Amino acid sequence: MTERRDPHDQLAHVLGPSAPEVGCDACFEQLDRYVELELAGIDADASFPGLRAHFAGCPACREEHDSLLALISGDAPF
Ligand SMILES: [Zn+2]
Repeated sequence: MTERRDPHDQLAHVLGPSAPEVGCDACFEQLDRYVELELAGIDADASFPGLRAHFAGCPACREEHDSLLALISGDAPF
């Protein structure tokens, strides 16, 4: 009995059917926890895959991320 192991199948099994697509709503929901991990020095990208890619393509969420980061880290101007 032969069982072929296609490396693509294995990879797809690990990563899921497709790369995670994060929309603005999901991004916004996870943003505060993402920033908390960042500030804690934890790899936030590993915990929330797709968010960073979303920031790269979505200036609005990136700006939200930056202001939240400043707010939580105490660098807010007020
Ligand atoms: Zn967005």
